[in-house]
Amino acid sequence: MLDVNLIDPVAFAKSALLQDDSISLAQLDERVAQHEFLAHADTTLHYRLKGGVDKLQRPFLDLSIQGELQLACQRCLSALPFVLDETVRIVLFSDEAVLDEAMDSDPDLEGVLAESELSVWSLLEDQIIMALPYAPRHDDCGNDDLERVNADKPNPFAQLAKLKRNQ
Ligand SMILES: [Zn+2]
Repeated sequence: MLDVNLIDPVAFAKSALLQDDSISLAQLDERVAQHEFLAHADTTLHYRLKGGVDKLQRPFLDLSIQGELQLACQRCLSALPFVLDETVRIVLFSDEAVLDEAMDSDPDLEGVLAESELSVWSLLEDQIIMALPYAPRHDDCGNDDLERVNADKPNPFAQLAKLKRNQ
C-alpha cells in the first residue's frame, strides 16, 4: 500500500505534486492529539501540500492548513474555538552550508535540509503546534455560575490547616 504520509520531498517538489486532503487530529502524533490546550481531538483539518521550484531553482513545499480547533480556556477550562489558518513555504536544501547561508541572508526563509523521506503528518504537527496560542483564554470567560462556585468554595489551604489541626 502506498503511504501518502511519506513523500520524497525533493521529487514531490520538482514534479509539482499536490496533496489536497483532510486529516483528523486524532490521527496525528500525541504531541498534537493529546496537547494540553486541546479540549478534544475530534476535529478534522483540511490541508494542501503543493510542490514547486522557485526562481532560484530551489525546490519547495507550499503547505496550508485550515480548521477550527476546540481549545480549553486556561482560565475557566471550558471550550474556546480557535481558527487555524496557516500557510508556509518550506524551501528544501541538500547542503547544510548553503541552507545556513540562505537562512542568514533571509530571516523570513523557512528552510530545511531535505531528507530522502519526509512525513507529511509531522510537517502538519509542527505547523499546528507553532500556531497554537501561548496561553489560550477567553477575552471574557463570562461564566457567572463558575465565578459564583469559585467564590463559595472554601479556601483549600484553610481546609488543609483545619485537617492538620484535627489530626
Ligand atoms: Zn474562559
